Amino acid sequence: MTYDDNNIFARILRSEIPNETVYEDEHVLAFKDINPQAPVHILVIPKGAYISIEDFGENASAEEIKAFHAAVSKIVREKNLSAQGFRTITNTGLHGGQEVPHFHLHILAGKPLGRMLPEG
Ligand code: 5GP
Repeated sequence: MTYDDNNIFARILRSEIPNETVYEDEHVLAFKDINPQAPVHILVIPKGAYISIEDFGENASAEEIKAFHAAVSKIVREKNLSAQGFRTITNTGLHGGQEVPHFHLHILAGKPLGRMLPEG
């Protein structure tokens, strides 16, 4: 599978589509999800062209991987999410329900989030 340069997050990274940025550095952009599933719903993406967590882990540089995890920690700390807790999700591929083929981590918080998956 090759990276689709016209996926929605690639277009956000090129500023062709607006976003509500919550964090940005050389390697990472984080912004509010357009269709929030919880009071806090942030998407964290690498600026590099990676399709999935697998692609990112295999092909990103150590600097990019470190920057990504450090950004998640910075966002969580800045938003004070650890006190009440939060959830991170990365959907991958068809069964994972991934809609946008650019690696992203969802950060969800702000209410009790229930069980990890719906019953059944
Ligand atoms: P996935 O299903 O791929 O794990 O998650 C994709 C997420 O991207 C969804 O939660 C969806 O609401 C969000 N999303 C899709 N298009 C846009 C957009 O144009 N802007 C923002 N901020 N989020 C988007």
